Amino acid sequence: MPKYIVVAGGVMSGVGKGVTTASIGKILQEYGYKVSSVKIDPYLNYDAGTLRPTEHGEVWVTDDGGEIDQDLGTYERFLNIDIPRRNNLTTGQIYKAVIDRERQGEYLGQTVQFIPHIIDEIKDRIKKASDSYDFIIVEVGGTIGDYENIPFLFALKSLERDIGKQNLIYFLVTYLPIPSHIEEMKTKPTQQAIRLLSEHGIFPDFIICRAKRALDIPRKKKIETYANIASEHVISEPDIETVYQIPLDLEKERLGEKILKEFGMKAKKSPDWNEWKKLVNNILNPKKSIKIAIVGKYIDIGDYALADSYLSINQSLLHAGASLNVGVEIDWLDSKKFEDNKKNLNELKNYDGIIVPGGFGSSGVEGKILAANFARTSKIPYLGLCYGLQLAVVEFARNVCGLKDANTTEVNPKTSSPVIDVQPAQKEILEKSMFGGTMRLGQYAAVLKDKSQILRLYLETGRLKEDEKRINELMKVKSQAFRLGILEKGRKTVLERHRHRYEVNPKFVDLLEKNGMIFSGYYERFDRTRLMEYIEIPGQSFRGTQGHPEFKSRLGNPSPLFYGFVRDAAKQP
Ligand code: GLN
Repeated sequence: MPKYIVVAGGVMSGVGKGVTTASIGKILQEYGYKVSSVKIDPYLNYDAGTLRPTEHGEVWVTDDGGEIDQDLGTYERFLNIDIPRRNNLTTGQIYKAVIDRERQGEYLGQTVQFIPHIIDEIKDRIKKASDSYDFIIVEVGGTIGDYENIPFLFALKSLERDIGKQNLIYFLVTYLPIPSHIEEMKTKPTQQAIRLLSEHGIFPDFIICRAKRALDIPRKKKIETYANIASEHVISEPDIETVYQIPLDLEKERLGEKILKEFGMKAKKSPDWNEWKKLVNNILNPKKSIKIAIVGKYIDIGDYALADSYLSINQSLLHAGASLNVGVEIDWLDSKKFEDNKKNLNELKNYDGIIVPGGFGSSGVEGKILAANFARTSKIPYLGLCYGLQLAVVEFARNVCGLKDANTTEVNPKTSSPVIDVQPAQKEILEKSMFGGTMRLGQYAAVLKDKSQILRLYLETGRLKEDEKRINELMKVKSQAFRLGILEKGRKTVLERHRHRYEVNPKFVDLLEKNGMIFSGYYERFDRTRLMEYIEIPGQSFRGTQGHPEFKSRLGNPSPLFYGFVRDAAKQP
């Protein structure tokens, strides 16, 4: 049976509960254990697919096509594992499942109630996510005291009773403010969070104290007295420069050993942090630094939301940089300014590389196309992610193939050269306005062209081998066969996650190729339709993907496309 570690937050949100959860997992992995995580989101939305990224942060996409909370992304980036959608629980999912079952008459006349039905549904889902792991870390979203997370705390307490306290421990992550007028660290809010938690019958086994500075002994003692837990279990987690330092800092307090001791377990192997330390050191003191422009439409977002809405791209650049010992500085450039005045494009000369990220709708699109054109013609490394590939194809069709009116039908449905278009099967769903079902979501296979730049990157980073293993696993799951499409022996195939409606129009592929654009990978559906997955231009660093490789980038295992992009950008004069 797996051991459970529940992580709840006190005092306020946004203090790093997600990265703490991921760091605890990383530590236990280093001691030789198999770890996964569950995120509980107490909101009523069924999933994060319809949430505004500028408010809630980026929508994370899983292998199996879930659109979920970005905390799952944090876990994947730390733990280097693929986490399925079922590991994200929302209140909406729980109630919908119970009500659907009630409508189907499955409760046989019972009165369907909060206790036991909702509670049982929560417990069942947590247990299902735990198959074949040694440890499951369950992060409870929000802050203790929120009305919304009461059902989940109740369910976790009930799980504790079912499996025994020896199999479940609680972490409370709190924040200790240092008010500037007294310059003294205050423990009171933490004391109150402990009291709130105790109202649910839950007493923390560990308290992680987030603060600007490390906790001193008197404060640890104060919390010890108040919470009635040994001060060795009061762990200090001060602010740091990069979140990837957190596992190292927590280990300074010997957290791994302490957790194992609490469960009466022993280390399976002695941890080896050398590689992780090297990567962290490369992040903190890179040998070289590069400047990257990310060109998108950023109106009304504001600086803070911006970084969060594109978190995975930031992280992917950071991971590639850590592996290459290159620091990456990012500037967000609003594509509208290129539309207003083409002279502004000259600003792009100051950058070592240009990214056009994913996006929807027509706003700012012409500016992005101008940026892609500037990158191609000035030979500045370019990476197009999803919309960034589509718009690079539009640019090439217009300016190299002479199709002046070329466009994506997302922007101009009447274009005479619809180089990017919805494919027939998807069109049908769109016409029925079933928006939820119209996207190509989750991982899909791509067969890579021999000798292409893209294939070389998947080979160099070891990702091709890794993906071959993943494909073998996926072949065993019949319901997911469509993700692989037609597989033939000897083909080099990789997997990336997707989230889009439009595709490169197969009718234009020959023409684009004749003019020098290479389609270096495709996904082959069972009806033999080939959907283009990658582009590249020979002799320069100009690549794009229909997928979102930023969802498969981890520290120590960077995404091949980002790796190639950062490497080439670092070679810029
Ligand atoms: N808007 C484009 C599409 O739907 C691209 C989506 C994206 O970049 N994620 O196909």
